[in-house]
Amino acid sequence: MTLARSRGVVVNGVDGLVVEIEAYLAQGLPGMTIVGLGDTAVGESRDRVRAAIHNAQLPWPSERRITIGLSPASIHKKGASLDLGIAIAILTAQGVVAQNDTIVAVGELALDGRVSPVRGVLVAAIAAQRAGFETILVPHAQVAEAELVPGLTVVGVSHIHDAVAYFLGEPFDVEPVSCATPRDETIPDLRDVRGQLVARHALEVAAAGGHHIAFLGSPGVGKTMLAERLPGLLPALGEEVALDVTAIYSAAGKLQEGAGLMTVPPFQAPHHTATMAAMIGGGSNAIRIGMVTLAHGGVLCLDEAAEFDRAVLDALRQPLESGVVTVSRSGFSSVMPARFQLVLASNPCPCGQFVGTGASCSCSPQVRRRYMSRISGPLLDRIDLRVSLEKPTMVELDPASDEPESTQDVNQRVREARARATRRFQGLPWSLNAHVPGPVLRRRFPIDPDAQTLLMRDTLGLSARGLDRVLRVAWTIADLNGHDRPVITDVAGALAFRDSNGSWMTP
Ligand SMILES: [Zn+2]
Repeated sequence: MTLARSRGVVVNGVDGLVVEIEAYLAQGLPGMTIVGLGDTAVGESRDRVRAAIHNAQLPWPSERRITIGLSPASIHKKGASLDLGIAIAILTAQGVVAQNDTIVAVGELALDGRVSPVRGVLVAAIAAQRAGFETILVPHAQVAEAELVPGLTVVGVSHIHDAVAYFLGEPFDVEPVSCATPRDETIPDLRDVRGQLVARHALEVAAAGGHHIAFLGSPGVGKTMLAERLPGLLPALGEEVALDVTAIYSAAGKLQEGAGLMTVPPFQAPHHTATMAAMIGGGSNAIRIGMVTLAHGGVLCLDEAAEFDRAVLDALRQPLESGVVTVSRSGFSSVMPARFQLVLASNPCPCGQFVGTGASCSCSPQVRRRYMSRISGPLLDRIDLRVSLEKPTMVELDPASDEPESTQDVNQRVREARARATRRFQGLPWSLNAHVPGPVLRRRFPIDPDAQTLLMRDTLGLSARGLDRVLRVAWTIADLNGHDRPVITDVAGALAFRDSNGSWMTP
């Protein structure tokens, strides 16, 4: 046979695409060309594949002109993961192995023929399974990653010889994978936070209702400590989201070897110097996966929020609204998942002391306003919970005082509250209070009449959006308190989370 086919996968953003690889051996000047929009790494594949086949003492068609075609040709192909597939196509064209159209092969070849790990093996396995293939060959070190996909036979190969043996139906021994130490999944515990009862409660409400939350307070008051503890309060990721999240980390090359499915909600805290490409994704060359996508299913924490580039903050509006982010780059774009819970933390003013009465702050009102206005209104509009933190008192910090509640205790209440909301919204497209549109909440889910009276009285002058924010939080507090609908104390609790001293400067 002088024309043969094999399959590989290319990963773009967080999506995988099965690529057909054709090898054609013709009479003519010996050499090898790869056609079909490959990048430099695909071009270099030529040298790697040739060296690997030579060094593995497998036949190379040195008297022939070799053409490798990658299709669909219209899609850019990145990275070295096609090496193994290209080698198989060349070996098939020479009759070393028989063509097998049920197999997809993914892996980079080292010059000596070893198969090295590549980025995005899980994404590749998902793509292969969805395209109806039965078997995927992957670098042996990444078998566990590919095996997360049900209904696909995963074969780990550590050398090109293993791949040939598999195609020939011969047994082969792979070097055992060094047993990876399990990932350290310890999340900081809420028990470490002393005092800050209001903020702790706000964090619990945020976890139960899926609300975005903002902490305002002086440096060192514990804003970041609290934010880091939110993932521990959230329920473990469901199977579907867990697979999405793991695929994202696989595509980003951030999955640890031997790590299984990621079930703990991720936590991402970009520095305030983060660029647009780092936060949202994109960039000049490869599609880079942004922090908003790495935070999918978990928490995106912006510490020192007012210090971020204004355009970067504004760019968060698309993912906050739609749960996805569109990244474009020279002619093609990629839509990536980005549904996260936002935690903003900020100093209240440049000197950081404008809390409570604001007596010790040395900033003028104009300076304060300019500082806070860096966090734009439309962004703040989506944040249901805004909490001002004060310095904990000496009594609260005293180690002899009562031990604070642990993450596990609070997590239990959060799960019960979420179950309540899920039952209430059965048959509707939401399961969390934070996601229900205001008009739907107002019309379809009436609250207790006395609570309604209090709500109307105390929210005079509040915008409709402001009113909806209070209402959503009241429902979550009711869920935490085990009430069927918000009663007067639940609404009072929600009103307490309003922007009490006007620090956020929004209606
Ligand atoms: Zn100040």
